[in-house]
Amino acid sequence: MTGFETVEATVLDPQVGSVIEEVRVFRREIEIIWDDGIVLRTKMRINGAWRVYRTTNWSELRGHSAQVVIDVGDRVAACFGSAEIETHHDFDPRRHPLLGPHGPDLFDPKLDRESCVDRMIAYEDSDATVAEVLLDQRVMRGIGNVFRCELLWSCELHPWAKISSLNRNECRELVSIAAEMLQPETRGRVATLAVYGRHGKECERCGGQIRVTHHGEANRVLYWCPECQTRHSGSGSTRYVTEHDTPPGAHPAEFIYLSDLERARKSG
Ligand SMILES: [Zn+2]
Repeated sequence: MTGFETVEATVLDPQVGSVIEEVRVFRREIEIIWDDGIVLRTKMRINGAWRVYRTTNWSELRGHSAQVVIDVGDRVAACFGSAEIETHHDFDPRRHPLLGPHGPDLFDPKLDRESCVDRMIAYEDSDATVAEVLLDQRVMRGIGNVFRCELLWSCELHPWAKISSLNRNECRELVSIAAEMLQPETRGRVATLAVYGRHGKECERCGGQIRVTHHGEANRVLYWCPECQTRHSGSGSTRYVTEHDTPPGAHPAEFIYLSDLERARKSG
């Protein structure tokens, strides 16, 4: 996202540079979810609508009473006729500040990397997956969902390897790569993504097919390569996983809907 504006006084604004990850539609409610977990909810009136334009002339849209404008570079989405506009953080207890003090900030140039490693090694829930722990703000701050997927791929780690199966050097490797990628001199560079958003495409490292699944308490999308992200695959936690793994070719949303339906039938 390259720009965001709203006429409402929202609590949290999505940050320029973050990635729009999902759009969920519930009747007249439309939610837009960014990779750092921020959710924008709009509740449309009967004649309300989100419209997408090629223009980047924001002032023109403001003149037409747009309530929210989201710029993604070559397109601008604008919201008109919404009765309610609000933002919140997608519920994930691990990201909630009331649960405990935040860990070190990866954006800090004086980051104490060993302190992040200590927090991973001493993680209270030994069954938690490495994919979940990377988003836990109490371990370290700064990893969004896009970067989490890329980080796991670059370390060849199975996303639901148990955190307790990683040794100190492996935790150190994750923290070091994360810290280097998020430093100001590297942050601005556009890196090509290896797995994120590449569902069904070929993995550039092994030629395997990239998959997408939903994972963790917040049910965030997770892209990974099952062929080469095999480190600690045997230790895998069984929580939250596999039932929503999307086979190649299927649309993730459609697959999740059908799996839920099937499960409901079986349990009913
Ligand atoms: Zn691969």
